[in-house]
This record gives sequence, structure tokens and C-alpha cells, in this order.
Amino acid sequence: MTASSYMGRTRGGTEWEPEFVTEIDQQQCIGCGRCFKTCPRNVFDLVEREVDEDDPMYDDYDDDVVMVMELADADDCIGCGACARVCSKNCMTHTKASALL
Ligand code: SF4
Ligand code: SF4
Repeated sequence: MTASSYMGRTRGGTEWEPEFVTEIDQQQCIGCGRCFKTCPRNVFDLVEREVDEDDPMYDDYDDDVVMVMELADADDCIGCGACARVCSKNCMTHTKASALL
């Protein structure tokens, strides 16, 4: 793949470069599911993560696990950026397509 093969265009003809999701910060994620509902592809999956007992954030939390989002299939991302816009915890890292070559 070359950088130009990833470049797209808007309907009006303006060149546009996708920014693919490359990481989710599961320490910040609250498992709200907004990114999952927003994504037009099959990139995300909600999974259980063991609670870090040393983290004071979970002092009053009874369960051993919390639900967090993970990247189930990052290769299915089209780089639209919608997930980052709906995440209230700023968990997502996106990378320009040309930087991944
Ligand atoms: S950038 Fe778009 S396609 Fe990629 S994970 Fe986010 S919402 Fe889904
Ligand atoms: S929108 Fe953000 S906080 Fe909510 S599940 Fe997705 S990554 Fe986690």
C-alpha cells in the first residue's frame, strides 16, 4: 500500500485522509458503549477487565471486573473519527493512514 492509496475524497472533491483508531485507553474507559453504537464497522467489542485493587477509584466497588471497550478488529476501521467524537473520556488514539505505512 502507498500513502496515496489510502487517500479519499469528499463528494465535493476535497482530498481527505482517514485517521484509523489504533488504541483504546482501558484505564479511562467507563464501558458506556457510545463508540460501539456509533461505529459503522465491526471494530469494537465490550469485554470484562479485572479491577485493579490498588486503584482507589474502585475502593467502593464490589465486583472484581468492570466492562471496558477493546479493539476487536482494528483492520476493519475506515478512519472516520466518529468514535473519538462521542467518547466522553477521550480514550481513543487515532493515527493518520500515511503514518501507518
Ligand atoms: S474511526 Fe470510524 S470506523 Fe474507525 S473505529 Fe472509529 S467510528 Fe469505527
Ligand atoms: S465511548 Fe469511550 S468511555 Fe465509552 S465505551 Fe467507548 S472508549 Fe469507553
